Amino acid sequence: MLENLLRVLRDSVQKFSQLVLKSGGLFCYNDGKISRGERMNFLKEIFGAIVYFLFPPRCPVCREIVDERYQLCKTCAEKILRLNFYSEPPAPIEKVLRVTRYREGLQPLLHKLKFDNNLNVLPALKKILADVANREEMLKLLNGADFAVPVPLHTERLKERGFNQTEKIFEEFLEKKNIPLKKILIRRVATPKLYKFGRAERQKILSGVFSAVEVIDLRGKKVLIVDDIFTTGTTVSECAKVLKSLGAEKISVLALASDFGEK
Ligand SMILES: [Zn+2]
Repeated sequence: MLENLLRVLRDSVQKFSQLVLKSGGLFCYNDGKISRGERMNFLKEIFGAIVYFLFPPRCPVCREIVDERYQLCKTCAEKILRLNFYSEPPAPIEKVLRVTRYREGLQPLLHKLKFDNNLNVLPALKKILADVANREEMLKLLNGADFAVPVPLHTERLKERGFNQTEKIFEEFLEKKNIPLKKILIRRVATPKLYKFGRAERQKILSGVFSAVEVIDLRGKKVLIVDDIFTTGTTVSECAKVLKSLGAEKISVLALASDFGEK
């Protein structure tokens, strides 16, 4: 901790001394002819150095000082990141890839997003996805995907929250991967919050809850379902059944957080 604070102090001294030198170059040896662009850039740099000094980048989970804004610290990254495939994907899903652990991982951040409507946690979640974007497992999962479908919220929940957190988390990532995000599923029934129910109860509650917004021909299509949290897999499996009934050839799932395989 102290070591990191010292580093911020050292970096700041370095940045400010560079800026002082630069200001000498700009204002004294330039015949007073400083372009507007140069002046703006210089001001931006000063502002950036002040922000860095006052608010150094911190790990979004434990608040330790890190090198880059929104980056996980080394300890949190080791504890939280778990890019791996689920050994028992629920039918008719072929592959499920998670990015992080949930309970020992992103739970506090996802709670802020979902229950406090706090969008400030989004950049950190997006950074996690961006950092694993080219990992072998991710490339394997995304290979050949025609489009992605977010797990939908019921309109009541959507109104209450103001946004679908899954769309917010994944939209930028998918755009960079050139995978269109298509909201072709709807949640017809408002279901209770599912975290307190087991697999069998979830199945009963969720059966027939999802449907397609319109009759679409998905024959031959490879569809990627995205979800924020993968728990028992019942939700995505119900979504997959609808996609399958429309002809989808292959269905995979990308979940930001899950505890599958954890003790
Ligand atoms: Zn941390």
